[in-house]
Amino acid sequence: MTPSTTFAGRTVALFGLGGSGLATALSLKAGGARVIACDDNPARMAAAREQGIETGDLRGAEWSTFAALVLAPGVPLTHPVPHWTVDLATAAGVPVIGDIELFCRERAATSPDAPFVAITGTNGKSTTTALIAHVLAAAGRDVQMGGNIGTAILSLAPPSPERVHVIELSSFQIDLTPSLAPTIGVLLNLTPDHLDRHGDMARYAAIKERLVTGAAHAIVGVDDAYCRAIAARRTGPLTRVHVGEAGEGPGILARGGIVIDGRREPAEPVADLAGIGSLRGAHNWQNAAIAYAVASALGVTPDAFAAALATFPGLPHRMEEVGRRGPVLFINDSKATNADSTEKALSAFPRVHWILGGKPKEGGIASLAPYFPRVAHAYLIGAASDDFAATLDGHVPFSRCGTLAAAVAQAAGMAEADAAGEPVVLLSPACASYDQFRSFEDRGDQFRDLVRALPGLRPPGA
Ligand code: ADP
Repeated sequence: MTPSTTFAGRTVALFGLGGSGLATALSLKAGGARVIACDDNPARMAAAREQGIETGDLRGAEWSTFAALVLAPGVPLTHPVPHWTVDLATAAGVPVIGDIELFCRERAATSPDAPFVAITGTNGKSTTTALIAHVLAAAGRDVQMGGNIGTAILSLAPPSPERVHVIELSSFQIDLTPSLAPTIGVLLNLTPDHLDRHGDMARYAAIKERLVTGAAHAIVGVDDAYCRAIAARRTGPLTRVHVGEAGEGPGILARGGIVIDGRREPAEPVADLAGIGSLRGAHNWQNAAIAYAVASALGVTPDAFAAALATFPGLPHRMEEVGRRGPVLFINDSKATNADSTEKALSAFPRVHWILGGKPKEGGIASLAPYFPRVAHAYLIGAASDDFAATLDGHVPFSRCGTLAAAVAQAAGMAEADAAGEPVVLLSPACASYDQFRSFEDRGDQFRDLVRALPGLRPPGA
């Protein structure tokens, strides 16, 4: 744990007592602050009290006595309770911050030279964060990984010059971190997303740009217009990462699945992604090239990077290889909750038995029509079945399977009988999971269990 000493001897209000909120409260307390915590879930309040955290209804509190309001990571600003706490705090002139801000202040006060890599972007944050952490660990570094990807930042070991913190940040977390000044700030890409929370693209992009502006060294994926504009405005040290053709200035490229260091003369191929099962698909070229940029800035050699890439296990539910049966490959891409993400998966395989459906999102799957010729058969589950059947009708043969279990059974049988090449049974639902599952993780776990139970299934590496 990293004790947060910024507010030692003062009183702090905290809203949100999920896992990371509680970790933040404990860190503040360990650092000598008095914490008054609140949550709309009484069970969480009780659990916090058991750990020695004081709880209270912040509504009636005397706000001028608080040094700060800390919002737990994951608390959406659209939630009504943070709204009123934020309104009350703001009216009383109390700063509203998050746990990343507490970490940044702690690092500045105790170990300002501690390497701190912060990663953001619209897509690929978790994959890139995990890949950077994996490469650095393989190179023998002491790595602490957390933030939006999982472990709360203040649950990690404290910053120190010998230890690298590799931290994924959402826009929400950046917004609550006024002192953000990482050693390396990574911006992967920017596409319209989360606009419900941030209002408009300009504001969303401005929040992400703060990471680039604050970083000692910025690494920016320059394949979209927003990121190119941000890179052009950057005045300090900058590495541009291009996928495809080289853009302006020397940078790092990922062309045809090969990561190339264009800063060297002559440009040096560093790693070939072909055959790395955990980094399938062209979208991972950007993630790998960015990971190389970070690793190289921290002194990892190209050879060590290439060797580490080959042992990256990948993240669950993102194009995760579950196993093979005969020539059939089974892939769990349950994280694909919209058509854009599913497009990445469909584009990675020439012949697909596609399991899709769930709670439909606006726009449906019409945008995936260019990939329909790759689909041997579609297996529909959940609430979106009628909607998707109408889009597929006349283009792709499909079955209404209802449940995931029925879909896996039918897809496994039909893929086995499919004589064409190496068919893939792909769960890439293009839908939220909540109609039939607790979460996308639950959906992916159930898919994995169903596939592993198939007779003759060989797990990856077997
Ligand atoms: P995030 O943490 O930003 O949500 P993940 O690494 O969990 O991203 O990847 C989620 C999905 O986003 C992947 O399954 C894939 O469909 C897509 N994706 C991953 N990396 C990229 C990228 N660099 N560009 C575009 N899409 C990507």
